Amino acid sequence: MSRPSNPEEVIIVGGGQAGLATAYYLRKAGIDSLIIDDQPGPGGAWRHVWPSMTLFSTSGFSNLPGMQMPDFEGFPPASHVVDYLTAYETRYDLRVLRPVTVRKVTHDGMFHVELSEPTNPGPTNPTNTRTLHARHIVAATGTWRSPFVPHYPGTTTAHQWHSANYPGPEPFRGSRVAVVGSANSGAQIAAELSLDDAVPHVTWYTRHAPRWMPDDVDGRVLFARNRARALAVTRGEADPGADSTLGDIVVLPNVKKARDSGSLTWTPMFSSLGEVDADHIIWCTGFRPAIGPFRGLDRNSFDFVGYGDWVGPGAATIVGVGPFAKRAAARIARDIAQAR
Ligand SMILES: Cc1cc2nc3c(=O)[nH]c(=O)nc-3n(C[C@H](O)[C@H](O)[C@H](O)COP(=O)(O)OP(=O)(O)OC[C@H]3O[C@@H](n4cnc5c(N)ncnc54)[C@H](O)[C@@H]3O)c2cc1C
Repeated sequence: MSRPSNPEEVIIVGGGQAGLATAYYLRKAGIDSLIIDDQPGPGGAWRHVWPSMTLFSTSGFSNLPGMQMPDFEGFPPASHVVDYLTAYETRYDLRVLRPVTVRKVTHDGMFHVELSEPTNPGPTNPTNTRTLHARHIVAATGTWRSPFVPHYPGTTTAHQWHSANYPGPEPFRGSRVAVVGSANSGAQIAAELSLDDAVPHVTWYTRHAPRWMPDDVDGRVLFARNRARALAVTRGEADPGADSTLGDIVVLPNVKKARDSGSLTWTPMFSSLGEVDADHIIWCTGFRPAIGPFRGLDRNSFDFVGYGDWVGPGAATIVGVGPFAKRAAARIARDIAQAR
């Protein structure tokens, strides 16, 4: 490809918390970046969670670098996070191109970023494609675009959902529902449905007994542990590891109510879909990294920020992404300094 005359210094693909935190650290190092995001507004995955979903830690423990999340009494809803990320973009005057989808990134010494963007959205309108160029790339595309459903043998006539598109209890009223998954989203959705008088039957399938965290412990403890691990890893020290005795379900008020009233009980996982006697199955079985546009690139030629434990402990959380964003920005700053 011919040398583009005016490349971006850094393109960050993904405008959720991971992309913003990386742009913040780049800005601090005096490096301009362009964020490309496919959503119509700020907030990343937080724009897509179910209506009753709340954080499992309080606002004081949900900060990105440089700016505190505004106070909220109790556990903030997703809309509070969206407002915070909106304010963060504005405060640091981050350059964000949206809604624009990155289709593919290639590299030949320079990164070439193929985009498609809606011209005038509508069923008959074509999408526009074009290519931007950058000296550095950061992948911060998160996971919500890649919901994961494990394979089970057998068939079912049940309507299948994923926590990624769970819309709240309304479509499940009058129906028998199976909720699958032993982590926080499974517990929260099963609790919400079992507390709803109009949902006659909820079965919560899990692979093992729920590992409740102590009732007086919220996400702060997990985040503190993750932070200690992240700092060790980014300093090049050994990962001190997770605290396996702590449990993994945060006992939020609704979860506690459903569990203590006896309406939220667990059932050992089925081995075939044919065993599931339900009108709906809601898979709360997690996500995979949405890294399609980067396939084929040399893993060492750019950075991933966010995603989860394969990037680093707590990297997918608001308060935990900072050290990994900082590490990516520092690496880019080093590369730029060496190239001068
Ligand atoms: C149910 C649930 C509860 C959670 N609770 C908490 C909590 O209490 N506290 C906490 O700190 N964290 C929590 N998390 C985890 C975490 O904070 C979120 O997953 C977070 O949104 C990850 O941020 P991100 O920036 O890495 O990814 P995202 O927010 O997903 O941002 C990535 C952005 O990139 C866009 N994108 C993807 N592909 C492309 C492409 N090809 N081109 C252009 N744009 C693209 C996406 O649409 C999105 O806008 C929770 C997660 C879930 C699912």
